[in-house]
Amino acid sequence: MKLRVRLAEASLLVPLAVAALWSLPALARGGGGEHYTSDRSGPDGGGADIGILFDLLYLAIRYPVIGVPLLLLFVGYVIYSRRQSGNGSTRKALERMDEQQRTAVSAADVHAWVNKLKAEDPAFDLLALFDKTKKLFLDVQGAWFRRDLKPVRPFLSDASHQRLSTQLKLLDSQGVRDALTDVQLQDLQIIGLEQSEWFDTVHIRVKASMRDTDVPSTFSDDQAQVAAKKAALAPFVEVWSFVRKPGAQTKIGEDLYQGKCPNCGAPFEGGASNACESCGAVVNSGNYDWVLAEITQGMEFQRNDVGVEGLAKARQTDPALNSEMLEDRASLCFWRWVEAQSLSKASVLSKVATPEFQARLDAELLALAAQHRRKVFLECAVGSVQTRAVQPVEGMDFAHVEIRWSARLGLGPVNEKPPQLPTVPQRWVFTLTRKVGATTHAEAGMATNRCPQCNAPASDNASTSCEFCGAELATGEHDWVLCDAVLWEEWRASTSSRARPGANAQVVDRSERERLLYMMAAMAIADGVVDEKERALLKMCSQRWNVPWANVDLALKAGPNLFERLVGKQTPEAENFLRELVNLAMIDGKIDRREKKMLEAAAVHLGLSQQLPGMLKV
Ligand SMILES: [Zn+2]
Ligand SMILES: [Zn+2]
Repeated sequence: MKLRVRLAEASLLVPLAVAALWSLPALARGGGGEHYTSDRSGPDGGGADIGILFDLLYLAIRYPVIGVPLLLLFVGYVIYSRRQSGNGSTRKALERMDEQQRTAVSAADVHAWVNKLKAEDPAFDLLALFDKTKKLFLDVQGAWFRRDLKPVRPFLSDASHQRLSTQLKLLDSQGVRDALTDVQLQDLQIIGLEQSEWFDTVHIRVKASMRDTDVPSTFSDDQAQVAAKKAALAPFVEVWSFVRKPGAQTKIGEDLYQGKCPNCGAPFEGGASNACESCGAVVNSGNYDWVLAEITQGMEFQRNDVGVEGLAKARQTDPALNSEMLEDRASLCFWRWVEAQSLSKASVLSKVATPEFQARLDAELLALAAQHRRKVFLECAVGSVQTRAVQPVEGMDFAHVEIRWSARLGLGPVNEKPPQLPTVPQRWVFTLTRKVGATTHAEAGMATNRCPQCNAPASDNASTSCEFCGAELATGEHDWVLCDAVLWEEWRASTSSRARPGANAQVVDRSERERLLYMMAAMAIADGVVDEKERALLKMCSQRWNVPWANVDLALKAGPNLFERLVGKQTPEAENFLRELVNLAMIDGKIDRREKKMLEAAAVHLGLSQQLPGMLKV
């Protein structure tokens, strides 16, 4: 699917070019690799440069015709790069952290994971799971291409189905369809297993390639294929996450892949209800067999290892409450929220959000429509979904779920092509609410879009109640509904206990740095013209934080509408934001002159110039 492929390309291309440049001196030295460079570099990062200098001096004496020009070039490069990025130690510290976050898997890991699964399910076989993954992968591409998800519906959790269906609608609303061909799967690897009381989650890395391109939505399948053939073959990596209830047993030859109910083995014909006609089992619940819960880009994949504040306490009254289902439900709400805004139709949320939330969104969309503008979410993708806290307040339970996503986001005139926009990482917290005393609907499992009273699948209409039994769905009487969606900074600022410093340990990965930088750029633009001095500071950040400058430049051109919202001046969330910037600058243990200037500029935009010196002291 191009949505993801393109995102990966956009963010990979520039760093690769930069990496190629960077590695040139190392290659010339011969035998010098990354480790050599980082081992030799002292605290000021100068060691490697000196090593190359000696090599080049030798070359210049021995073969002056080649060596002298190379030496001059190198000296020029060192001076230039020093001026551009200071001593570069921030950048090196960040690169090391990125490295550690990448998914490395040993044969021993794989062996251990498989054994853990076999302990409860002796018939489990990794190769058989790979075969299923391969079939599903190809079927999903085919269903996506034909714009008909019915054939793969029983294999997807409700949120992953919602995501694909929303993405198809967004493409259609722009008058295009995704034409793809020559889909090839190169490699499958298990890269993680998470086990909780409620679900086992298996992460499978998929390496594949395909040709794809945008064509008018009126194109037939044949016309679309012809167009796709002309596109370049592009490789991509995704992580497919499958979820299953612990204790579920592999049934060889008796599952959905053979057209059989994974619970009772009766023939399963499909159909909108997604439930077996013989035994009533919800086939995509994850209670009987693996169900696809999420597709993540390789780069954005993150291990889910944070504890959830308040979850254990909430389980005392609702023992089946679990973060997997909450996250699936939050993800479902997220995609509905994206769809509602892109199509300017708040009623898309009628069954999954509170009437108040819907009314607020409706008012926002009406105000935009009055200005003949609309919200644009292009190439929207979710990076990670993580439950942060569960807490009861005055008769209602609240679950706060962090969603990291990215999109080319902006405001565009109605019925016109949106402006050229960069892909911007976003970090939000979606808050779901439910009446205290309501309990988790365990039979539906990862099928989180069903009526909690009669178990029927929730239909797509604008009504707020179940069309089968009349149960009211939007009030949170029985199931979690969306009641708020705010920026990460706003959420952090709303409760002081969450502002504890430990929470910052996570902010330094690449998409987070990218997000902070774009926010700084957007705030600078919002305050008026961005002068050369300020551009230079942003450029320095882009180099130190390893974010492609071309994207930042695009962000500066796109204007302040790059974000749904910005943090307000002189607010607690502005303080959180500035503190994150300080932490980032401190990652190498110090703040140098240029970093200080950058922080001062940011503090001006945040209205926090007086608070900054206090933050730098701590
Ligand atoms: Zn059955
Ligand atoms: Zn119902």
